[in-house]
Amino acid sequence: MKGKKLILAFDMYGCPNRCLHCWIGHMPNVLPEDGADDFVASYFYPYFERIEFYSWLREPDFCPDYRQRWEKDKALSKNAEPLRFELSSFYRIARDDGYIPFLKSVGVKKVQLSFFGLKETQDRYVGRRGAYEEIMLASEKLIKGGVIPRWQCFINEENKKEIISIYETAKRIRETVCAGLEFFVHEGSCDGENEKLYPVRIEKDHIPDELIPVYHGYDKLKTEEECCLLLENDDTSPCFETGDEITLYVSNKYDVYYNFTNMTKPWIIGNLKEDEPDSLTEKIINGDTYALKKAKECSWSGLAAKYGDKTSKKAFETDDYKMYLFNRYLNDL
Ligand code: SF4
Repeated sequence: MKGKKLILAFDMYGCPNRCLHCWIGHMPNVLPEDGADDFVASYFYPYFERIEFYSWLREPDFCPDYRQRWEKDKALSKNAEPLRFELSSFYRIARDDGYIPFLKSVGVKKVQLSFFGLKETQDRYVGRRGAYEEIMLASEKLIKGGVIPRWQCFINEENKKEIISIYETAKRIRETVCAGLEFFVHEGSCDGENEKLYPVRIEKDHIPDELIPVYHGYDKLKTEEECCLLLENDDTSPCFETGDEITLYVSNKYDVYYNFTNMTKPWIIGNLKEDEPDSLTEKIINGDTYALKKAKECSWSGLAAKYGDKTSKKAFETDDYKMYLFNRYLNDL
């Protein structure tokens, strides 16, 4: 399609973690068959002028041959280069001394690491014993290696006190070994696995005072009650724009999704092994998919009336709340 750019992320190697907050959703790790990457990229070559190809959409660099993989991702891209972002694998940083030099060689200056609490909580939320020690070791190795860690903390009712301790640790590190260490707190979205954490979602008034200055987007944060009031007279339908730049996620079963939300059944657009490229690409460009058709059949006011809780003080960003409501609706169909 003339002028269209595709960002194509293929879940080739999966992820070592099973985070309780994972908005993408949990899926088994399945090693790719030979030529899977060439097949996925070339499926879309005729339709897009520019393609950024990524062999990961869960954990970047989870495959042991990450150097060759990076070169292959670049080679499979079309009139574009994949980006590095500020993401990496703390699993690999903790285990592989060649990894930080690689990250630096491809221009990574900061790496974001996710915290959920202290040892027991961190391990439970990441889904692996030893995850807390690994993330602390990864932070230490990054600092020694000249890469700035950015600690992001997901806060909820059960871990809010532990997040204060993490912040204290971050401040100590800033004062001693790494003045540039970045730190922020947020509540996270409410889709994928994270929707299951709705019962412990933080109430806005329960956010500890000392964390408000480092709370991302605190000024725009609403209670669920405020979100419901905002939407109760909004009779428009959920609208998901694709535009000139489309991002697609491809699962290890070759199912295709937009990047709007989790990778669950209602959001499947089609399957690269089963669907003919002309018609699947047309569906993608025109938004002719099950979820987007269902979106036209409902309104925000109706969704808020059916699924919203006007007595709730749980904290949401408005767009996250809207996605929560719409996914509740899709899951009910
Ligand atoms: S949130 Fe990221 S690291 Fe955690 S399970 Fe999901 S993809 Fe893996």
